[in-house]
Amino acid sequence: MSRPPSLSSRAEALQPSLTLAISARAKALQQEGRDICSLSAGEPDFDTPPFIVEASIQALRDGITRYGPSAGDPALRQAIASKITNENGLPTTADEVLVTNGGKQAIFNLFQVLLNPGDEVLIPAPYWLSYPEIARLAGARPISVPSSALNGFCLDVQALEAAITPATRLLVINSPGNPTGRVLSLDELQQLAELVRRHPRLLVMTDEIYEYLLDDDIEHHSFAAVAPDLRDRCFLVNGFAKGWAMTGWRLGYLSGPGSVIKAASALQSQSTSNVCSFAQRGATAAIEGSRDCVKEMAESYNKRRTLLVQGLQALPGITLFPPKGAFYAFPQLPEACGDSVSFCQRALEEEGLAIVPGGAFGDDRCVRLSCAVSRETIADGLSRLARLLPAR
Ligand code: PLP
Repeated sequence: MSRPPSLSSRAEALQPSLTLAISARAKALQQEGRDICSLSAGEPDFDTPPFIVEASIQALRDGITRYGPSAGDPALRQAIASKITNENGLPTTADEVLVTNGGKQAIFNLFQVLLNPGDEVLIPAPYWLSYPEIARLAGARPISVPSSALNGFCLDVQALEAAITPATRLLVINSPGNPTGRVLSLDELQQLAELVRRHPRLLVMTDEIYEYLLDDDIEHHSFAAVAPDLRDRCFLVNGFAKGWAMTGWRLGYLSGPGSVIKAASALQSQSTSNVCSFAQRGATAAIEGSRDCVKEMAESYNKRRTLLVQGLQALPGITLFPPKGAFYAFPQLPEACGDSVSFCQRALEEEGLAIVPGGAFGDDRCVRLSCAVSRETIADGLSRLARLLPAR
């Protein structure tokens, strides 16, 4: 038998997704007939609101089935620009917007067009697990700056600044954050802006994909709106997946200075061409429509997040910073539980509980649980977790 082809060094260096490995194992066990309780979901448990689906179906009936402009449907680019202008307080034009295949491709395109081999990307931990991999694919070095559940994953601006070197090119900010559910306050954003002002070569990417999923008492601020003087160094990533329950549609966007958007569009034209044309019609309906559906879903996550948080806080030895946004909780486990990967493997094999190891997000003492599941599943998951913890 001939040997399989050798892989590129890029592919060799790529970390397989731990979250996908856990869900694959959970599915395999389920197929064997095991009773599995999964709190590992990274997506809404709602269907896409019907008016969005209808707009896309109508587009198909209208023959919107051909290639489109690689930067996106002009109507959608304009609708996104208006949304950013009016909701986020950042005056934006359509040529400062690129429609992408999900928020993930917005990040991928941005890193590809901004970063050179050897550049460093500063990523506060815990972080969404794809940032370091996407940085590596661009030849850059992800530099993670830790924080701790013990102080509520508070952003340590001094530690961030200490990690800046002449090679540092980009700072990644994600608020509301995955996996912690942490929402950066106005004061924290202002401190970050001060830091960025002190380092004129530093660019900033803000991932605001969970902007609508917030507790009632909290507000989302776009970094560039807090620091308008830094506007030409800021890039905003967002998408339709989480707010409008459109994960499978693959619709996101990148916004920032027109010259970079143009380069990212050229990259897109040579890779994926354009985002699915009739799906973009659905996205236009979503963004131009009322936010009532988004608010209803957010309220439902809020109630279930409270349930999850209360349940976790009642467990022995758990340190939990109460999340204020997104649909996750990221508790730190008692030391006796060991590293997060072995704990999650044990949780799955012994209790049929699927949760995500914090190691994947840069904090091996924690695990991620989702509240985008039914109340019964949350209660069941908490009982299974309780049985895995050492007695106090
Ligand atoms: N950014 C964060 C923080 C996420 O959690 C996710 C998805 O889980 C994404 C970006 C990517 O979203 P999309 O499905 O739009 O590619």
